[in-house]
Amino acid sequence: MIYLFLALIILMLLGGFFCYKKMNLYIPVLMYHRIATVENDRNSLPIEKFAWQLEYLQKNNFNTISLKMLYDFYTKGIKLPKNPIVLTFDDGYKDNFISALPLLKKYNMTAVVFPIANWIGKPNKWENFGKELTTTMNWQDLKSWQENGQEIASHTVEHPFLNNCSRQELLAELSNSKKILQEKLQTSMDFLCYPYGKFDADTVAIAKQSGYKAAFAIFENVNLGKVNIFALPRIPIPSHQSEWEFKLKTSKLFLLFVAMRKWERDLKKWRKK
Ligand SMILES: [Zn+2]
Repeated sequence: MIYLFLALIILMLLGGFFCYKKMNLYIPVLMYHRIATVENDRNSLPIEKFAWQLEYLQKNNFNTISLKMLYDFYTKGIKLPKNPIVLTFDDGYKDNFISALPLLKKYNMTAVVFPIANWIGKPNKWENFGKELTTTMNWQDLKSWQENGQEIASHTVEHPFLNNCSRQELLAELSNSKKILQEKLQTSMDFLCYPYGKFDADTVAIAKQSGYKAAFAIFENVNLGKVNIFALPRIPIPSHQSEWEFKLKTSKLFLLFVAMRKWERDLKKWRKK
């Protein structure tokens, strides 16, 4: 009996240690879109909420890090500052420049914007599904974004579902967006963000072939078991984000929470079989 008890304790300690190690590898990468108040649009976060979130991060000693720092940590083990976090904005909306940038500067934080190469300084008509019309940052805004210490990375040419693209289309989307941004901004584009978080084996192969070092997806579509540098998970921050949920999403416990939700879903699927 006593041996069984001891074995159980050892098993629990090992399990705890494994979880702790995994959780320590977890660096939250937050995914934002617009910073604006737009009715019925889950991708538009009101500016007051965004300001509260940055203040929360500052009060709790979070340090925003660059994509290169994240990459160096995962590939070379180079140490990061305490409580590292990455802030990202998809699609490069103008309100990121007008509303988010002053707040980022106020809190001394950095973020990455992922503009769509063919939709720079234009109305957001790639979202032809009834969204409120707005515009995106133009080249001058993007240059100013960089001059203010912020980062830019690639998000394809036309924003397609990459998992539905042929290899030829993939090459054009990934390689050309890299070239266009590099030429105009005179900065190396080493990182990629998959539109809608969608990708497959071909996408990863062509991303590597196009010279990217790493790529970002969304939490739901990646394997949480091990870090894949071409499928780095991001956490969506929707318009209705509550304060307690934001606290959970930025804590290391979130990995455990998501893993448990995935297990629950897998178990349900398995039961239905
Ligand atoms: Zn996008």
